[in-house]
Amino acid sequence: MSDEATPTPVEDVDGRPIEVAEPDDLDHEALERRAQALARVVKFGDPVLRSAASPVTEFDEQLVADAERMIELMRDAIGVGLAATQLGTLRRMLVFQVGSEAEPTVLVNPEIEWRSNDAATAEEGCLSLPGVVVDVERPLHVRARAVDVHGEPLTIEASGLEARVVQHEVDHLDGVLMLDRTERDQRRGALRALREGGTYAPERPEQEDEAAEPGIEEMPGRSDDARARDSATRDRSEERPV
Ligand code: ZN
Repeated sequence: MSDEATPTPVEDVDGRPIEVAEPDDLDHEALERRAQALARVVKFGDPVLRSAASPVTEFDEQLVADAERMIELMRDAIGVGLAATQLGTLRRMLVFQVGSEAEPTVLVNPEIEWRSNDAATAEEGCLSLPGVVVDVERPLHVRARAVDVHGEPLTIEASGLEARVVQHEVDHLDGVLMLDRTERDQRRGALRALREGGTYAPERPEQEDEAAEPGIEEMPGRSDDARARDSATRDRSEERPV
């Protein structure tokens, strides 16, 4: 990926940009719930994030309960996706919910079996990498095979932001982070921010702001710069925290 390449716009599910930046309309209770949820999420530096998760083999009530807890945490954290790895559990399970009207989906033992040649570059954030946003190029469309919490086969086809989230979460199950998929300068800037407890978002020339259609992945703590860019290019009235 390079800055020179014109990014293909990400087609959001239902055409709505997802706003996961510090939402202004959260009441005190929601902020408190979010802080508690974020505190449960494993952060960068923990080796578990670099470990591959093992396939789930037991489909019992505990698995159903764990999946429900993950969905609850994802919602409380105002995220759009969460992998079990991020809770310190090395099991191949992820949840996602992209778009305000979408139902949360649980994928157990997911494998991406098809990726489109069409790719797009967009900003991603990660609940495990607080304060950091980087550009990641990914295929625009994917098909994933998985099973549900009862072990029933499940195939999902996803496009745009939803496809991006699924790929980001499957990466977590393989011990791969968005830092591994961004360009060197951004990785360097992001690592510095993570080390120093600061924030990072890619710098962008003015003219690219117009064309960019950022597809934010799952992270609330975006930088002021990133928020400023978003507010300049988005109709905020359409947005809803996810
Ligand atoms: Zn993540």
